[in-house]
Amino acid sequence: MSKPKKKWGQNFLRNRGAAERIVAAVEPRDGEIVLEIGPGEGALTEKLLDLGRPTVAIEIDPELAARMRSRFGDRLTVVNADAIDADLPQQPYRAVGNLPYNAGTPILRRVIADPRCRRAVFMLQKEVAERLVAHPRDEPYGYLTLYAQLFADSRILMTLEPKSFHPAPKVRSAVVVLDPVPPRYTCDRERLIALISASFRMRRKKLVNNLTDWLDLSRDAVHEAIAAAGLPEGVRAEEMSLQEFDALCRAIAHREL
Ligand code: SAM
Repeated sequence: MSKPKKKWGQNFLRNRGAAERIVAAVEPRDGEIVLEIGPGEGALTEKLLDLGRPTVAIEIDPELAARMRSRFGDRLTVVNADAIDADLPQQPYRAVGNLPYNAGTPILRRVIADPRCRRAVFMLQKEVAERLVAHPRDEPYGYLTLYAQLFADSRILMTLEPKSFHPAPKVRSAVVVLDPVPPRYTCDRERLIALISASFRMRRKKLVNNLTDWLDLSRDAVHEAIAAAGLPEGVRAEEMSLQEFDALCRAIAHREL
């Protein structure tokens, strides 16, 4: 066995019960394939193949990718690539993975934004998982919470202690299940994402301060849009729901007409 490589976040799962629960949560439907991100030494892969679906695994480490190919042969399609920009499957799929800590968030963001993804079951750093399921005013609530809500409902399946992995990471982990939802916003999506990002620029500041000069908006224009969206004058981004950001996005777009 080769030495786990830190640069690729290689903390291999050594908890069989957790692996079984993760795989049971995938629940592929007819016509859906399985996409595993970062199969590593195959702790999940073996059980995923028992689901009896065509399965694709994207692994960045050429040594582990080769090992997966020789271990599973024709049963598994192994792609030696970076999941941050690798091609995703062309048919509907359910994604699963014990994601590397250093690339977990960008991988999650692109997978849930992909319309062919029908569910994602991802192990992440517990703090990241908590951001996904946070509510307005919760400490972890922020850009990632709202970004995820554009695409999916998130729930935490379980949390795991460092001793469930080899080598043990410094942080706790959690498995999140993300189920796609139809759009619950009406504004242009890219515009809405840009608005949310600008609104959280300085977390503790009032919204009006974060948005003044964004898209050349004057302070008065921001005040007017906040009022038109039915929000209190001194509102902060951390208090606002996705629907409220959507209303604000529309109010700003309306002003620009
Ligand atoms: N699934 C295995 C398990 O649960 O034991 C391995 C999990 S380990 C936390 C993360 C895996 O993702 C490693 O195999 C690592 O090489 C791979 N990996 C890291 N960065 C990646 C990336 N950008 N794209 C694809 N795979 C990546």
